[in-house]
This record gives sequence, structure tokens and C-alpha cells, in this order.
Amino acid sequence: MNINFFDNKRQSMVEKQLESRGVRDVRVLEAMRTIPRHLFVSEELQERAYDDCALPIGEGQTISQPYMVACMTELLSLKGDEKVLEIGTGSGYQSAVLSMLAREVFTVERIRSIASNAEKLLQSLDYNNVHVVVSDGTVGLPGLAPFDCILVTAGAPDIPDQYMNQMNVGGRLVIPVGSRHAQTLYRIEKTSEGAERQESTACVFVPLIGKEGWQENNYN
Ligand code: SAH
Repeated sequence: MNINFFDNKRQSMVEKQLESRGVRDVRVLEAMRTIPRHLFVSEELQERAYDDCALPIGEGQTISQPYMVACMTELLSLKGDEKVLEIGTGSGYQSAVLSMLAREVFTVERIRSIASNAEKLLQSLDYNNVHVVVSDGTVGLPGLAPFDCILVTAGAPDIPDQYMNQMNVGGRLVIPVGSRHAQTLYRIEKTSEGAERQESTACVFVPLIGKEGWQENNYN
């Protein structure tokens, strides 16, 4: 395979799927121009890694569509000095994007095998400011709070209480909320008076399963 094959696909992904749809944050665009997304999927799927869709990563889970990763990351308004909590490590691709744009990233995954694959990959690619934790992310990460940003990459029935409690004032929470099959992406900024909520795009994520999320066998 041509050595520039993936590079070309990646540049074209950024141009056609992100810039043309209005993603403007130059740091987000630069991170996604750089990170080798094809290494975050299995070998059989590598050629499709830059396609305009989510892809399976095993255990019924997915790596999110590139545009959705860009939207969510842009909504966090990262400047570079933030301590970020991500819920739903999955492939580790979103964690790699956060790693380039923030100071420190804690990412939580409930499925051990998925977490360990992502951790190995992130280490081998030298994303050294990312820490992978296996636990139920619906209760946040109380021992390591407060965070400047929280990004949830699985669909929630509601906003778990702990997230707002575990953020600094000025902090941003980005989370898909809705039914099992369709959600709306929200950005909630914690202010000294309370919270400011902004509604973003419609989206479809795998379910956030846990104590404050969907129950394993009952997500209507
Ligand atoms: N950010 C990922 C997207 C992964 S899909 C990526 O870039 O690839 C969502 C992930 O959230 C799945 O791996 C799923 O197992 C995980 N998940 C679901 N509920 C969870 C919970 N309560 N705590 C932590 N992870 C959870």
C-alpha cells in the first residue's frame, strides 16, 4: 500500500467532513490532521477508518464518526491547560485528540478488554498524559475531581448528578442525552450562579450503561 495512502485519506477527511461542515477550531483540525485514526481500528477496517461514519471496535461498541469527535471536542473550548475527564474510552481515538489539546486526560471505560487495548495503543503512540481507568463512569471519578471539562461519549438517559459536582466553575460538560436510539448533544457550562445549557446537534451513540445511566438489559 502506498505510504501516503492513510495521510491522503486523513487530509481529505479533515477538509471534506470537518472544515466544509463548519468545524473552525484550528487546534481540533490540526489534531485530527495528525492522529493516525487507522491505528485505532482493527486491521480489516483500516482502509475505512477515515470514512464518514462510526465503525465497530468489538463488544458491540464503536469508534465515533470523525465529525462527531470534532463537534464534541470543539464544544469543550479547550485552550491547553485543562484537566479533562472522558467517559467511554472505546478505541482511545477521542482520548488521543484530547491528549493533544489539554494538559491531562482521565478516561474511564467499563469493559476491561476494551480499556486495556486502548491503554496499550495510547502508550505505544506516546500519548503520555492519558490515564485509562476501568470503572462505571456514570458516577464520574470522585477521587480525581475536580475537572475542567467532562466529555461523555456514550448516550445517557439523563445528566448524571455527579458530573456537575465534579467540575470547576467555568467547566464545560459535553454529553449526548436522549433515548436509547437517538440523542441530542448538549454543552453545559458551570457558572457561579448555576449552569448554562446549549443544545447542539442530533446524534446516535451506544448507550451509557451503569448506576446513573441505562441498565444493562433494559434500555428503552
Ligand atoms: N470515545 C470512543 C467512543 C467509544 S463508544 C472512541 O473514540 O472510540 C462508547 C464507550 O463507552 C464504549 O466503549 C462503552 O463500553 C463505554 N461505556 C458505556 N457505558 C460506560 C460507563 N458507564 N462507564 C465507562 N464507559 C462506558
